[in-house]
Amino acid sequence: MCFHPWSDLTLPLMSLAEIRAVIDKWAELTVELGASYPWVQIFENKGAMMGCSNPHPHCQVWASNFLPNEARLEDRTQRQHLQERGVPLLLEYARLEAQRKERLVVENADWLVVVPYWAVWPFQTLLLPRRHVCRLQELSDGERDSLASIMKRLLTKYDNLFEVSFPYSMGWHGAPTGPHLGADCGHWQLHAHYYPPLLRSAAVRKFMVGYEMLAQAQRDLTLRPLPELSPGLRASCSL
Ligand SMILES: [Zn+2]
Repeated sequence: MCFHPWSDLTLPLMSLAEIRAVIDKWAELTVELGASYPWVQIFENKGAMMGCSNPHPHCQVWASNFLPNEARLEDRTQRQHLQERGVPLLLEYARLEAQRKERLVVENADWLVVVPYWAVWPFQTLLLPRRHVCRLQELSDGERDSLASIMKRLLTKYDNLFEVSFPYSMGWHGAPTGPHLGADCGHWQLHAHYYPPLLRSAAVRKFMVGYEMLAQAQRDLTLRPLPELSPGLRASCSL
C-alpha cells in the first residue's frame, strides 16, 4: 500500500490530511481482510537498513488464516492480566506511564508514545490510545486526526535525531479478527510498535546477534561518565 503519489514523501513529511488518509485506509483494510482472516498485520519497513527494497514510501498488509506467534503471546498475556487485575494490560500500563512521565516521548488528548520499559532497540517506542480501543476501525474521527498528528510529531522527532530519514520497522497490533470478531476481545488494547535499528548515529546500527540470538536481548545503554562514581561501581553500571 503506497502512502502518497510522490515517491519521495515519507509520512513525517506528509500533511495531516494525507496521513489521515493512510490511517483511514489501514482501518478499511482491517475491516475488509478481517472479515475472514483471523489476523491482519499492517507493517512498514522504512529504509534500506530495514530491508526495504522499494524506496517509494509504503507499508505492507499481510492477512493470515492463523494467529502468528506475537499475536498469540499478546493474546495470552493480555487475557491473563484482565482476569487477574480487571483492567486491560496496556490500558493500565498507559495510565502509569502517563502519570510518571519518565518514558513519555509525545502525547496528546487521545494518544501517548512511550519508550516501553522492556525496550531492546535503542529508540524503540510504543504508541497507545488513552481509551480502551480493540481495533483500528473503532477509532473515532477525532482519534484518527489526533493519531495523524502524534505520528507526525513522533516521526519528525525520529528524523531530527540524527538528521536522516529515520529507518524503522513499525506495525499495528489489535484484537484478532475473522472468527474472533464475535468473541469477547475486551482484554486487547490497540497499539503500534516502532523498532528503529540505529544506535549512536545515522551510520551505526544495533545488531541483534551473538548473546541476543543465543541467550537474551541486551540493552546498549551508554552512561555519561560520572567522576563521583568509583571505577568499580561505574563498571557495574555499564552494559
Ligand atoms: Zn504488540
